[in-house]
Amino acid sequence: MGDPAPVIDVDDLSYRYPGRDEDAVRGVSFQVAPGEIFGFLGPSGAGKSTTQKVLIKLLTGYRGRAQVFGRDLSSWGDDFYERVGVSFELPASYRKLTARENLALFASLYSGEVEPIDALLEMVGLREAADQRVSEFSKGMQMRLNFVRALLNRPELLFLDEPTGGLDPGNAVRIKALIRERRAAGTTVFLTTHDMTVADELCDRVAFIIDGELPVIDAPRKLKLAHGERRVRVELRGADGLTSETLPLADFDEGALAELRGRGREIETIHSEEASLEQVFLAVTGRGLH
Ligand code: ADP
Repeated sequence: MGDPAPVIDVDDLSYRYPGRDEDAVRGVSFQVAPGEIFGFLGPSGAGKSTTQKVLIKLLTGYRGRAQVFGRDLSSWGDDFYERVGVSFELPASYRKLTARENLALFASLYSGEVEPIDALLEMVGLREAADQRVSEFSKGMQMRLNFVRALLNRPELLFLDEPTGGLDPGNAVRIKALIRERRAAGTTVFLTTHDMTVADELCDRVAFIIDGELPVIDAPRKLKLAHGERRVRVELRGADGLTSETLPLADFDEGALAELRGRGREIETIHSEEASLEQVFLAVTGRGLH
């Protein structure tokens, strides 16, 4: 048996905004497997949202192939939205309605089964705020509401744009755990982020995106092994107190140890450090994530 058919299949996709003289997305190709969390990691303006908007049919007039669930995007009608969930970075709820009213309204648009609203609100800690108007919500609360709104129709494919943007650390952890739960339940996730921690912690595979192009696509761990330099950090105690020095793992030998111990210093701890995805991004693209 071969690999299962991809949920998203994109080949040589380009997109140019009307009136612009350059493509925002330039000939990108990638496939997303069922049940995979696939991430687009790149700085602001790289083309993440544009790609996502093409994939959810908000932008038409793209060039190249873009298939979801085995069919060209152009051949999908409104039934497409029964099968996908979308959470945008910008708050997208009706401000005059309460959280519960918003979810009830969006639930009424689906023909299939929907998740119980109270359970969704509970999941993201909004049960207490269920009957407050969204205009009274903080940005983080609006983000959490957006997130569960995307789960209403039990989507097979979830699009998330900066899923932890604007969240405090506790809620970011909660949302990341919920995304992993969706994966465990078989949902495919396509997410975009400029946050390397999100990409590293969540994604099975990550595509680096820069100037509308994808120079690499791989598992975060493999990228770190292939492109990142492993380093060793040594803490030393000497006359001037505790100091630390970092050197490449490849250079860490008897000679290096002897040199570190010189000048009356004692080695206190030795840690090996893995390259971060951000360092790999810099090594591959020559640019930072911010
Ligand atoms: P990202 O999501 O990675 O921050 P975007 O996909 O939003 O990047 O933007 C990619 C490029 O397209 C940028 O150069 C941006 O200025 C341009 N762009 C984005 N939205 C529009 C638009 N509505 N009209 C014209 N150009 C746009």
